[in-house]
Amino acid sequence: MKAWRISEHGDLTHLKQVEVPSPAPGPMEALVQVKTVGLNHLDLWVLRGVADHHFPLPLIPGCDVCGTLEALGPGSEEALAKRQLGLGSEVILNPGTSCGGCEPCLNGLDPLCRSYGILGETQDGGCAEKIVVPVANIIQKPGNLSAIECAALPIPYLTAWTMLVRKAQLRAGEIILIQAGGSGVSVAAIQIAKLLGATVITTVGSTGELTGKLNDKVKKAQALGADHVIEYSQTPFREEVQRYLKSLGKKGCDVVLDHIGADTFQESLKCLTWGGRFVTCGATSGGEVSLDLKALFFKNLSLLGSTMGSKGDLIRVIELAQKKKLQPVIDTVLPLSRLPEAFERLTQRKVFGKVVLTSDEINL
Ligand SMILES: [Zn+2]
Repeated sequence: MKAWRISEHGDLTHLKQVEVPSPAPGPMEALVQVKTVGLNHLDLWVLRGVADHHFPLPLIPGCDVCGTLEALGPGSEEALAKRQLGLGSEVILNPGTSCGGCEPCLNGLDPLCRSYGILGETQDGGCAEKIVVPVANIIQKPGNLSAIECAALPIPYLTAWTMLVRKAQLRAGEIILIQAGGSGVSVAAIQIAKLLGATVITTVGSTGELTGKLNDKVKKAQALGADHVIEYSQTPFREEVQRYLKSLGKKGCDVVLDHIGADTFQESLKCLTWGGRFVTCGATSGGEVSLDLKALFFKNLSLLGSTMGSKGDLIRVIELAQKKKLQPVIDTVLPLSRLPEAFERLTQRKVFGKVVLTSDEINL
């Protein structure tokens, strides 16, 4: 089969289309014909490499996959039949793999499993014609969602759900600041925060260079339900957050969701009210920050780290998308044959929502 593969870390020239043997499903595994793949920031890290982190190269990238069940390994047919799934079924793949038998796994804390992995990061992902996954990672695709929409769901929505619902425990009536409102996770977070009944402040970059319309991302964030949108290139965000909070008669945000990292950490932390919760799932601008512990204990703040989430929570998120309570936002759809362009687009931070690849032209 044709596949995109990263054999060594580096720039886009290290993302190569190759011919590899089609994988065969083992016991309790299934072979899925890939229809669509959602791109994530994680794919960029796999390509570039991360200091002091080992990726098992060569790897096929692509974590968020939607496709069709094509072949089943021993025991899989019976297991999937119990969920009304079989050959030909359209499925979404749960990107997080874990042992399924340890205490964290059995408590629904999959990312704490010592053998936790992610498709496209610790084993081959979906930027290929086919992929093999454990049957535990297979979810029925809702009929009223397109394969493109489904590939935009897993990582961003599971990550945002875990951060807001499980970690920060955002409640109705609270105020949340969500940084980088156009990113996949933040788009999901804005929708989830509104669903929970919170007031949402978000920051967006300018799209001026791309479209000539400076406020394009502002409008898109407002359309998602954000109550107040800040163009951080125009105004220092903390000043604008404080001005808005004052208009609400409030002194700080209850929750800040920030995956930008070093560039925003200090000012983000200062946006919190007493007892506020800071939750992070990434550090795209760098992970080294300094922290004055006095601010942490005097203001009773909580710092919460989060990675991915449980398989069960992804099923809940997909149900909410099926009921149109959550609406995946697609920025760009490209054929998988043009994967480097998709990487380029994500690198340049031009996106609002997800970049999704379709398998249509991979055989050309
Ligand atoms: Zn486990």
